[in-house]
Amino acid sequence: MHIDLHTHSSASDGTDTPAELVRAANAAGLDVVALTDHDTTAGWDEALKAAPAGLTVVRGMEMSCTGRGEDGNPVPVHLLAYLFDPENEAFALERARLREERSTRIGRMAELLAVDYPSIDPEDILAGTGPSAGRPHLARALVDAGAVPSVQAAFDGPLRTGSQYYVAKVDTPLDRAVEMIAAAGGVSVIAHARARTRGRLLDLAQIRELVSLEPGGAGGLGGIEVDHADHNAEDARILRELAGELDLIITGSSDYHGRNKELKLGQHTTHVDDYERLVSQASGLSV
Ligand code: AMP
Ligand code: FE
Ligand code: FE
Ligand code: ZN
Repeated sequence: MHIDLHTHSSASDGTDTPAELVRAANAAGLDVVALTDHDTTAGWDEALKAAPAGLTVVRGMEMSCTGRGEDGNPVPVHLLAYLFDPENEAFALERARLREERSTRIGRMAELLAVDYPSIDPEDILAGTGPSAGRPHLARALVDAGAVPSVQAAFDGPLRTGSQYYVAKVDTPLDRAVEMIAAAGGVSVIAHARARTRGRLLDLAQIRELVSLEPGGAGGLGGIEVDHADHNAEDARILRELAGELDLIITGSSDYHGRNKELKLGQHTTHVDDYERLVSQASGLSV
């Protein structure tokens, strides 16, 4: 079984449409693929409808959160959520708020960029993002205009945190997000918890706290993404050990973004036992 539990489509900052994504997953030999766009479920229906026979599509999302960094200061954290009930009202409202934060923020960054990069048209940018706007949409526009040579160069330059064009957004407190996902019958998994290249790291002590949010564990954190391109061997080892100690689900995945990142579908995968545990733990939706 080849199982990839973290991918992005054009419903957020990937470049494949959901239909193209599931066809590519099938062509890559995957048996299971989760669609986990940032803060939106908008790609689910198209992905399910287009899924070739023999490919299971898991409905998921990657939620923008704020956790506690190793230095005690807030740090951005991505939290994967699987098989939750999309109709759960509190959770649906929070997703809508996050998307609003995203488009306000990308619009503001586009305005700031437009001063120095006249090829950037804030209205065009927002018209082209789809339901969940992100910095990769700005990066592509800068590349297409010839203002930077690559998406990576855009993230190293004008789009980096702390740049004069950078605007922050207000994400969901991580503990609150874990509770909301559990209340919607979903399973939460911390994404790329030790991706050093993205900046400061999440305090591992907070992962322990998230597991015990509800005595008995059912309402707490479900798992940790261990095998990911942004983890070095030592960091993956640390996370695998922690997951074992806390009896959490261990996942591995590609974080595929189409042409926006050099990652291949199935580049990292999840063991079938962990996948089955995730599916059986979820009560919001089935596969
Ligand atoms: P945002 O969610 O708007 O803050 O943008 C962050 C997103 O940009 C992440 O979800 C990644 O998909 C993407 N990203 C971050 N760094 C890079 C990079 N160096 N190259 C390509 N994409 C990146
Ligand atoms: Fe992304
Ligand atoms: Fe992420
Ligand atoms: Zn992702």
